[in-house]
Amino acid sequence: MKANPRVAVIGGGPAGLMAATVLSEAGLPVDLFDAKSSAGRKFLVAGHGGLNLTHSEQAEPFAARYGNNAEIFKKLLAIFSPGDLRAWLRGLGVETFVGTSGRVFPKDAKAPDILKTWLEILARRGVAFHYRHRWQGFSETGTPLFLSETGVLLECPAQGVLLALGGASWPQTGSDGSWASILAAGGVRLEPFRPANCGVEVAWSEYFRTRFSGKPLKNILLRCGDQHATGDAMVTSHGLEGGPVYALSGVIRDLLDTGGPVPVFLDLKRDLPLERLRERLEQRRAKESLANFLRKAIHLTGPSYSLLRETCPPEELKEPARLAERIKNLPVLVTKTRPLAEAISSAGGVAFAEVNADLMLRKLPGVFVAGEMLDWEAPTGGYLLQGAFTTGYHAAQGLLKWLGQPPATPSIPR
Ligand SMILES: Cc1cc2nc3c(=O)[nH]c(=O)nc-3n(C[C@H](O)[C@H](O)[C@H](O)COP(=O)(O)OP(=O)(O)OC[C@H]3O[C@@H](n4cnc5c(N)ncnc54)[C@H](O)[C@@H]3O)c2cc1C
Repeated sequence: MKANPRVAVIGGGPAGLMAATVLSEAGLPVDLFDAKSSAGRKFLVAGHGGLNLTHSEQAEPFAARYGNNAEIFKKLLAIFSPGDLRAWLRGLGVETFVGTSGRVFPKDAKAPDILKTWLEILARRGVAFHYRHRWQGFSETGTPLFLSETGVLLECPAQGVLLALGGASWPQTGSDGSWASILAAGGVRLEPFRPANCGVEVAWSEYFRTRFSGKPLKNILLRCGDQHATGDAMVTSHGLEGGPVYALSGVIRDLLDTGGPVPVFLDLKRDLPLERLRERLEQRRAKESLANFLRKAIHLTGPSYSLLRETCPPEELKEPARLAERIKNLPVLVTKTRPLAEAISSAGGVAFAEVNADLMLRKLPGVFVAGEMLDWEAPTGGYLLQGAFTTGYHAAQGLLKWLGQPPATPSIPR
């Protein structure tokens, strides 16, 4: 066992900060580096929309949210679970609650308060923060290299390194994916970055775009292939955004990759079964305008009505049975996903085959990876932050093991 080995955590997002928490709890001197002038910028952005820290789902369905990596996450989440995260947050003074959707949020604290408290605790434990230090790779002797703000290349010796450099969306927060070329040059296999939890593009008519951009399609069911999601979608000048769109964006993206536009289907009246909808539509009087009738009979107005008008051939609008089917299954053609920079998260990054069970890079012994820089994706709902916290925790324990140190439990932060 090396006495008090110095460790470097590179990347100050949730994954890196959790790793620094574990490593400092173990009593190791920790240097935390970040390219930006402060830590946790994407965490703060996540706080703008109501910080969804994790989810209250049971272990099995929770792990299933990580798709192809469900088995890997089943094991990881057993090590640092949503319950562990909530207990740790409680120690930080952050009580959480389960919302009606099962999502977990902080009760009173906002993201800036949580981050401030967390950083203060780490600083008190002696974690040394080095901002405006952009990681450049390793020297010939394996020492991490950083480009300082003044353009000087610095060697910062460390006995163990933990990379938590984030994905490649929202580059303004520091997660610009520029680290990928460094690891690729070192022979690490990376999957290309792709947008996840993102909006999609639809070629709206000029009328629809100008009239309805910024307006919601309320309480819809969105379907693509055998997947569906419900909630409000937002019409934008480019296409569609919002919960159900993000939830299906991975499926849509994968289908787009196979070529051509992808049809998605909207159920504009998801609470009304087809048969009942048809019965209501049959009650239209000959002289009543369609717009008036649909508004009164089924509260179909605004962008929903306009989209129906634009998509439906005129003869179908007159036929209650066919109109009902259209309302329940309105096709919209998606041409693209929105760019990676706008996505809530990214797929791609370091392939899991490149790391061992402790998240150490097989090709770079002593270098561990955590957070969104690993090739996993998950929907919104708290699964992203939980994934970052869990992998940060686990990679830090792996680093301790590699250094011959006993495991650490980040209990009540001191
Ligand atoms: C709008 C938005 C809303 C979101 N809302 C939620 C939510 O409510 N719930 C949820 O679970 N998730 C949410 N997320 C996702 C969540 O914020 C991320 O998944 C999480 O921050 C990833 O953590 P990370 O530590 O892996 O990476 P990041 O938080 O991206 O941190 C990576 C850090 O590495 C630094 N870095 C990068 N390259 C270098 C380099 N070369 N040298 C030095 N430092 C470098 C960056 O500056 C950054 O500080 C949201 C994301 C966005 C964009």
